[in-house]
Amino acid sequence: MKIFCCKTHVEHALDVFVAKTESYPILTELPDEEKLSTKCEYCEEPAMYLVANA
Ligand SMILES: [Zn+2]
Repeated sequence: MKIFCCKTHVEHALDVFVAKTESYPILTELPDEEKLSTKCEYCEEPAMYLVANA
């Protein structure tokens, strides 16, 4: 499972991840070029972080 999210929605994304997968998420900051081309899952802001499995 992968969730792209902005700064505002990081905590929400982590909560959703844990609730859905029941495992601990890894939070990584996206490289600059991916930030520009990827949108937050929960709003229209550019994504800054990726929440994913280890
Ligand atoms: Zn957002």
